[in-house]
Amino acid sequence: MRTGTSSVDTADARTGHLNGDPLIAGADVVVGADGIWSATRKVLDPASPEPAYAGIYALSGVARGVAAIGSGINMIFARRGAFIHLPAPDGTVWWAAQVAAAEPPADVRAVGLGELAGLFPEEPVTAVLRGATEVGAATLLHVLRPAERRQDGRTVLVGDAAHPVGAGQGASMAIEDAVALAHALTTAGDVPTALAEFDRVRHDRTGRLVKVAAANRDAKTAGPDRPPTRTGHAVLLRPPLRTHHRLALRPHPRPPA
Ligand SMILES: Cc1cc2nc3c(=O)[nH]c(=O)nc-3n(C[C@H](O)[C@H](O)[C@H](O)COP(=O)(O)OP(=O)(O)OC[C@H]3O[C@@H](n4cnc5c(N)ncnc54)[C@H](O)[C@@H]3O)c2cc1C
Repeated sequence: MRTGTSSVDTADARTGHLNGDPLIAGADVVVGADGIWSATRKVLDPASPEPAYAGIYALSGVARGVAAIGSGINMIFARRGAFIHLPAPDGTVWWAAQVAAAEPPADVRAVGLGELAGLFPEEPVTAVLRGATEVGAATLLHVLRPAERRQDGRTVLVGDAAHPVGAGQGASMAIEDAVALAHALTTAGDVPTALAEFDRVRHDRTGRLVKVAAANRDAKTAGPDRPPTRTGHAVLLRPPLRTHHRLALRPHPRPPA
């Protein structure tokens, strides 16, 4: 294994060839696991889509000294986003917020707790935010139109490079891809057959997940111009993964008749 190197770059994407690197030139199979901004995807198809801002950014960190906020993973939906918090074994609280914003922040490093305080004004989120001691830089979430060319008989895309599902299932899909690709390569008679079968099986599955992810994103973007479709519910999954969904959507005032 060789780590810390970039085997595919924009020059490959320009020429449409992956053979600039000797490691790749001698390979039977090239797996493009290079994420949503994949250069390998561009090599396979220079006209492949570009990622676009998804209308959501994320902010996460650690809080200390927060008393009794419950156990398990807690997810709270508010009018313009969702807030997740869970107690860590060391007594801290790990938290993350996903904020719906039509335009990305001008400077992601300038986004801070002030934005979140206005969006999530109720306990227990306010307690977590008061105790926040570490805040990471905001991350923009992106979507990608379906890539039409995901393999060519020797090179294959996996994970976000092929089908970014987004927050919630993207890592799971990337891991499933790895297992399915290994299975296809060890059971098919040759590499082109394996890659075609892998792509057929995974495209169906991830296509369904992309639709679920879009609905998931919409649940976090119920802004003032969209009537709330749900007034509240609670879902408790069996331990050890217990998820508490609490909807904090409020009815909008009706416009004058
Ligand atoms: C805020 C946020 C929250 C998320 N929450 C969840 C969640 O709760 N559950 C979930 O399942 N998913 C979640 N996801 C999605 C998940 O992070 C991704 O779907 C997952 O990381 C995709 O894995 P990947 O290996 O395909 O790509 P990546 O994790 O993006 O890895 C690609 C790697 O390739 C490297 N690379 C890129 N170009 C080159 C090159 N030319 N040469 C060599 N290396 C290169 C990159 O440096 C990177 O290390 C979340 C995403 C975000 C942004």
